Amino acid sequence: MYDSERLLALTTRSPDCQPRAYAIAGFHDFCLRKSALCAKACGIILYRSRHIESDTFSLALGNAPEILIQLLNRKDFPMDTLQLAAPANAFILFNGRDLSNWTARDGGEPGWAVEDGILHVAPRTGDIIHTEPLTDFYLHLEFRCPDMPEATGQAKGNSGVFLQGLYEIQVLDSSHVNVPGTGDCGAFYLQSAPLVNACRPAMAWQTYDICFRAPPLDDSGDVSELARATVLQNGIVIQNNVEIAGPTGSASGMTVETSGPLRLQDHGDRVAYRNIWAVPLPTKGSDTYEPR
Ligand code: MG
Repeated sequence: MYDSERLLALTTRSPDCQPRAYAIAGFHDFCLRKSALCAKACGIILYRSRHIESDTFSLALGNAPEILIQLLNRKDFPMDTLQLAAPANAFILFNGRDLSNWTARDGGEPGWAVEDGILHVAPRTGDIIHTEPLTDFYLHLEFRCPDMPEATGQAKGNSGVFLQGLYEIQVLDSSHVNVPGTGDCGAFYLQSAPLVNACRPAMAWQTYDICFRAPPLDDSGDVSELARATVLQNGIVIQNNVEIAGPTGSASGMTVETSGPLRLQDHGDRVAYRNIWAVPLPTKGSDTYEPR
């Protein structure tokens, strides 16, 4: 359950309707029906709700255009970054064709499979590691958990995204969980649970958009500040500038470094990935003050 909903506005395909914006709290079925009628009449796209069940959508939307129903059921609209194109200054970590610049943990050939632009975990072949060390960065990637209806807990579509090889953001089918914990999808494993459950169901593509700030080291090589990260899952903030206490379980090592490569986890399940890229971030902006 969530404490708010928003009707965000809106574009229209009708010349009779001007774009408008709303922020509505305490949205009721009545409003939903009203917005559906309005949408049907003028082609407005956009409703965002996270606690109204899909059956209610169907009831309220009635004969609304199919495209509208599809959009209304995307709870993350309009912040969806699915298939977001990499900017020009990005490192393309997965090129969609092969595993160039990836290795197994022992430095050997990675065992995962690439097919139709998708990177598939090959169970029990081990984790894969990219060769590019990253310090402060913005990372985008997309993942898809397999449908494992009989599986439970950590055996249900498990993989993981290890930032710098040290800090795992969990990948798991947690779509059925009411209150996600520190082992669920979107958690920094065993350290920081996601703020909300932003998961899509198994077999649906999902996004992680991550801003990571590496732990700075002092002159003697000791960590002077903890690593920090902000994570959006499917366009929803699930980790808000959290401090990461240290390497999570199964990290590549316990030594915190300034930079390290991305690692993806083989936990024995057929999780898939695509569209993986990172943009290096400067430590800070300019000190100048030059308004123009
Ligand atoms: Mg995992």
